[in-house]
Amino acid sequence: MSDWLVGSALDRVEERRADPDWVRASWADPDAVVLPVGEVAVAVTPDGALATRPTAGDYDSERHYLLGLIEGRPWFSTWADGDEVTALRQIMDGLSASDLQAAFTGSGLARWHANARFCSTCGAPTRAVRGGQGRECTGCGRELYPRTDPAVIVAIVDPAGRLLLGRQPSWAPGRVSVFAGFVEIGESLEQAVHREMAEEVALELDEVTYLGSQPWPFPRSLMVGFRARAMRTGFTMAQGEIEGARWFTVDQLREATTSGEVTLPPHTSIARRMIESWLAGTLG
Ligand SMILES: [Zn+2]
Repeated sequence: MSDWLVGSALDRVEERRADPDWVRASWADPDAVVLPVGEVAVAVTPDGALATRPTAGDYDSERHYLLGLIEGRPWFSTWADGDEVTALRQIMDGLSASDLQAAFTGSGLARWHANARFCSTCGAPTRAVRGGQGRECTGCGRELYPRTDPAVIVAIVDPAGRLLLGRQPSWAPGRVSVFAGFVEIGESLEQAVHREMAEEVALELDEVTYLGSQPWPFPRSLMVGFRARAMRTGFTMAQGEIEGARWFTVDQLREATTSGEVTLPPHTSIARRMIESWLAGTLG
């Protein structure tokens, strides 16, 4: 989780992006780059880095979204137009921390603009403002900004130190992970942990401890990681949601991954980092 626990390499230039002249000048900056994106997908080079290109032509606020500055260089995203894009899930494990941040931000922002073209209050068209940080309704003047959906992700450990991993029916064969669920309106993160785990595996938890968080743009979540202790080891799986679940010791999980019996989530995911942390004995 370390990359997500320190300040971002991406400076979102909150104080300057309200000035359209400054945004246009940033687009015209000879060092500026634009990242072509698709639906949760980005352009990548054959060696797996982001395939940005220099900005060219006139700045178009409806097509060019300013992500911010990385090492002083302006980064924009735009919908891919004839560029090949690759699903983020396929390439994110190979991206550097700053590329990952740009990819998550750029694809998420473009997707939000595509889905926010009309005001949800009065139905009038909206227009991009602040270099693409938000939109403004042309009818009632309401300002709209991208939202993220918080979800809790929980590593449940039993009194003997075993970790509970489960799988959903839609996952690739063998894939197991820790448990996750969306936070509902009017609920705290900790309440969501207790409710979700009661619903999914009928376990009562204590010692719910915050671990860290990371953006998860599939399509626009914020994953908030927790460790929790199960009061007992007997669990009941929710019909339909969970296909299988079991307690693992460290040795059992190492053996199951080595043999290929189970596979773990991508290295980039907070789920994987939580599992690796538990394997290393540092989950707490
Ligand atoms: Zn409106």
